[in-house]
Amino acid sequence: MTEFVCAECGRESDNSSGFDRCVCGGPLEYLSLIRRGSRISLDTGCLLIDFSDFLPPLRYDSSVSLGEGRTPLISCEGPELEGFKVLLKNETVNPTWSFKDRGTYLTLLDAIKRGFSRFGTVSTGNMAASVAAYGARAGLDTSVLVSADIPDEKIRPITVYGPRVARVKGDYSDLFYKSIGSASSWGVYFSNSDVSMRVEGSKTIAFEIFLQLGEKVPDYVIVPTSSGGNIRGIEKGFRELREARLTERTPTMIAVQASGCSPIHQAFQNGRESVERFHNPSTIAHAIENPLPPSGNSVLKMLRRNGGTTIAVDEEDIIQAQQRLALRGFFVQPASATSLAAIEKLKKLGSLNGSTVVSILTGSGLKYPSALDKHPAQVIDVSIDSLDSLFR
Ligand SMILES: *Cc1c(COP(=O)(O)O)cnc(C)c1O
Ligand SMILES: [Zn+2]
Repeated sequence: MTEFVCAECGRESDNSSGFDRCVCGGPLEYLSLIRRGSRISLDTGCLLIDFSDFLPPLRYDSSVSLGEGRTPLISCEGPELEGFKVLLKNETVNPTWSFKDRGTYLTLLDAIKRGFSRFGTVSTGNMAASVAAYGARAGLDTSVLVSADIPDEKIRPITVYGPRVARVKGDYSDLFYKSIGSASSWGVYFSNSDVSMRVEGSKTIAFEIFLQLGEKVPDYVIVPTSSGGNIRGIEKGFRELREARLTERTPTMIAVQASGCSPIHQAFQNGRESVERFHNPSTIAHAIENPLPPSGNSVLKMLRRNGGTTIAVDEEDIIQAQQRLALRGFFVQPASATSLAAIEKLKKLGSLNGSTVVSILTGSGLKYPSALDKHPAQVIDVSIDSLDSLFR
């Protein structure tokens, strides 16, 4: 039975490793068996149980879960958002402080089901930490391949979980594909950014939004996009809810990128069907700085089917949005702040026609403390004897 189909060219495949790619290079996507009458709930708080009608048949195992998902959806007000109901899906409260944990949990269960005892990824940021944490939780032999120029600040939050960390010299995009190619000889399950179970994990963001809105879908969902795995998963989740007749419509998807690295945006706005490598990428939004996104072509295809669009936001707007979110109580990393910057820009362009907008806050600001340099600290020095003067 065919269980997987290429999101790019539509070819069917058995995806024997769990993380294979199509012969065309595109990502293989799990073919869900959606029936009328399929149900979702927030009853147990465990995404594999609550959403099992829509997820692959993986065996629930609480001993390898870290309590991923079930994140808050919280309203956000501000002068720049006037006229819209803006809700923030706060993924920063996941076990390793980004949405990556949802997908990592499912890839881990898939790896165990397929008999792998080695787990790994190619990443330098949130995914590396997530894979390292879940590998440690399950006691698997875990490897993280990073590029040779990774700063120490980014390595420590990965090494703390105790995986094998290898700095690899060479081209980073090549490393992504090479890891998959060599995985069979190494016996490592590579939980890379857009593998099928990761995309299934991101579907659960859509399910939660739907339930948190009282079984309704928002008009727009704005997603900071790098490899494209997350936005593909969220859109797939809403689409499957429609297939199950739980909703008649699906939200318009908006992929936001930083102007300093916007290969998907460039391709979409120029009407191309494939992304081209973005040369000399440079942005503070490191978590979305992939110059040649592996799911880029599939995202272009998905956006056209969905009626969605792309937007790119500038550095100054990203930093300001990060500050504005913090002043409202949400400390996210610059990559995630793009989702607020995007609303403002789209509003100015007059491109938002609905009323309910959900922005995905993909990861925590504490993951990237050097961005704090952009926000000057305001501290008052005062002696203990003159506290009165402070509050006068
Ligand atoms: C991984 C990540 C993204 C991008 O997600 P993709 O699935 O690669 O498109 C955005 N923001 C944060 C914080 C991330 O960690
Ligand atoms: Zn293909």
